[in-house]
Amino acid sequence: MLEGKVALVTGASRGIGKAVALDMARLGAKVVASARNTELLDALVSEIQSAGGEAVAVVGDVAVTADADQLVARALEAFGRVDILVNNAGITRDGLLLRMKDEDWDAVLDTNLKGAFLCSRAAAKVMSKQKQGRIINISSVVGEMGNAGQVNYSASKAGLLGLTKATARELARRNVTVNAITPGFIVTDMTEGLSDKAREGLTSQIPLGRLGTVEDVAALVAFLASDQAAYITGQILGVNGGMYM
Ligand code: NAP
Repeated sequence: MLEGKVALVTGASRGIGKAVALDMARLGAKVVASARNTELLDALVSEIQSAGGEAVAVVGDVAVTADADQLVARALEAFGRVDILVNNAGITRDGLLLRMKDEDWDAVLDTNLKGAFLCSRAAAKVMSKQKQGRIINISSVVGEMGNAGQVNYSASKAGLLGLTKATARELARRNVTVNAITPGFIVTDMTEGLSDKAREGLTSQIPLGRLGTVEDVAALVAFLASDQAAYITGQILGVNGGMYM
């Protein structure tokens, strides 16, 4: 489904990003995997290569302009083009509004929103020239609904939806589509800290009666990256078990 495509995935060392990178490689894409943790990225690249795929690791922080530019430069060096960018890197620094520290606001906005802007800007230069590209932003259901204790995270994820739509309008004429996925609660390190009670409470609000898996999200990323999704742009697609409709 993605043979010959070059896919850049941020936050690929763990969780959803790792599942997306593995799935894209399985579907024939050459993968450029990025995050800050060298060991985990190297292990991912080895896993892809031992399954017969092609991948390179690029260590970097998405919130740093030089790192985002370097990510695209390294993809070009390794594989000559950039067809798909998955802006997946993200963090939480939860706290109630009245107690939230400036640093926690800035860290979350810098990684989740500025990071996606920096990587999109760098990749869009290449995609515009190619007249071909797909940008997929991993937002969150919390960007649509809000969540107490997550004003910074909710704002960053809602901001990503605006970034998605504006970028989709700008790049459509260049045959670059831009879409956002809003996962609900997905089982990863990010949600591991939940108590059993919190987990039960959450599950009771999900019509499909379970938390999501990383594969549930990766399947939609693969579809949006494929030729079958050529006429879909500027859209927000939920993968949330029905918890927000
Ligand atoms: P995770 O397991 O905590 O993984 C986060 C990934 O982002 C890691 O690979 C991490 O790698 C990378 N990362 C964090 N800060 C970075 C930075 N400054 N520069 C580069 N990479 C960075 O989280 P996850 O659950 O897979 O979440 C992935 C995305 O889905 C996030 O955007 C998250 O907000 C979103 N999401 C998750 C859920 C959920 O329920 N899990 C729900 C909705 C949306 P390093 O630490 O090695 O840099």
